Amino acid sequence: MSLTSYFMEATYLIASILFIFALKGMSHPETARRGMFLAEGGMFAAIVGTLIGAHIVTWVWIIVGLLVGSIIGAWMAIWVPMTAMPQRTALSHAFGALAAALVGIGEFIAHGTEMGGVTRGALGFEIMLGSLTTTGSLIAAGKLQGIIYGKPVQFRGQNIINLGTFLIMVGLAGFFWIHPDAVIAFYSMLGVAFVFGVLLVIPIGSADMPVVMSLLNSYAGLASAATGFVLGNNVLIIAGTLDGFSGFILSVLMCKAMNRSMTNVLFGGFGAVIAESTSNAGGVMREISLDDAAMQLAFANQVVFVPGYGLATAQAQHAVRELAELLEERGVTVRFGIHPVAGRMPGHMNVLLAEANVPYSSLYEMDQINPELPQTDVAVVIGANDVVNPDARDNPKSLIAGMPIIEVDRAKSVIVLKRGQGRGFSGLENPLFFKPCTSMLYGDAKSSLTHLAQAVQHV
Ligand code: NAP
Repeated sequence: MSLTSYFMEATYLIASILFIFALKGMSHPETARRGMFLAEGGMFAAIVGTLIGAHIVTWVWIIVGLLVGSIIGAWMAIWVPMTAMPQRTALSHAFGALAAALVGIGEFIAHGTEMGGVTRGALGFEIMLGSLTTTGSLIAAGKLQGIIYGKPVQFRGQNIINLGTFLIMVGLAGFFWIHPDAVIAFYSMLGVAFVFGVLLVIPIGSADMPVVMSLLNSYAGLASAATGFVLGNNVLIIAGTLDGFSGFILSVLMCKAMNRSMTNVLFGGFGAVIAESTSNAGGVMREISLDDAAMQLAFANQVVFVPGYGLATAQAQHAVRELAELLEERGVTVRFGIHPVAGRMPGHMNVLLAEANVPYSSLYEMDQINPELPQTDVAVVIGANDVVNPDARDNPKSLIAGMPIIEVDRAKSVIVLKRGQGRGFSGLENPLFFKPCTSMLYGDAKSSLTHLAQAVQHV
């Protein structure tokens, strides 16, 4: 082995270690930023190692790729707003998967017929996963951005057509594996995989996209691991496998937090129709004035804020931090209760509150905050709905029965900030809003919080 090869393998080892520590760091909000820096360091080491140790045919395309990629990356990092983060992530997956598919095509053209059986199998795997993830992620990004119809697209015989397309794709991969010179089978597999990616994602509603995206992330990772096998590149195998399995574990955790099975997310068409579901909701909703709400907050001993999707759409994170600070100055204990699937992507609330500099020590996970709620004077629900719906706990016939919730209804008093009678992601009515302990403060969350802060100052 030459000196440059030793150097390359050493940088790959460093990169792999950095990736593992990065994942560990990203598992907690407090260390997530450090985790991202470690991941960047790992990626930098892997790129430098490859550029120095690998045989470079021409630098021209590498420099062009580096420039174009950096410009697109910088644009996505600087100008894409926080609210558009899910679709930005979907686009990143599409690019990663397309890169894997293109490398696979390149390898097929360069060494297709000379490959051994294992490498050819890995190539087929890489092409299938890379291509279907590319189109699947583009559809996911389009749905989340509202460019493509967000509701689940379902038609008669859909599952049969999807299964048929899948079998054709795998059949073509098998044919290519047996006949390495079958150019038509190879490119047909590529085309069918692109179509399958579209078919896979259109039946899923935009609100379920985060689960689908973390699954696609997992596919993109596995496609990269397969690329590693094709190229004999260790860092790709390690990083791809880590990415693949962490994406899969995340998808499973998200499904668990919504009390839904993966099959239900992928084939359930959630959001297309509301299943036969009963609700305990009924009665009248009691409205509260701004001044009365401010009074309750100002004289409370303990206040718990429970943010949800509405906080994100209203971009109310700074307003809630300001209100929390005002209350703390008055001696009120303020906590934030964070539900694992509040909002529309994992960690949505953590990211927003961190952006507004809400201290991590004030953030409580669902299991930590629930025992605190009976001692809480006021629970303030900010644009959250499903994650505080008591039907999930009390009504076995509810569509969301069994989904763990933040039990705000156990607090002495609940103030719900929302714009009107709009329902949550599940489309269900929420009996919390009709309970005697609950009062509604209508309006956009940001403006309600800003006005509440002003009113608290005058109490
Ligand atoms: P939600 O159930 O979607 O409810 C959001 C509420 O916010 C609505 O009732 C809406 O009522 C209100 N709202 C919207 N815009 C507002 C604004 N500008 N100001 C004030 N209120 C506003 O949200 P959630 O409680 O956070 O629950 C999240 C849901 O998404 C769960 O069902 C979860 O399973 C699902 N989901 C989450 C993820 C994830 O990774 N986090 C992934 C997939 C699915 P009005 O229209 O009346 O204002």
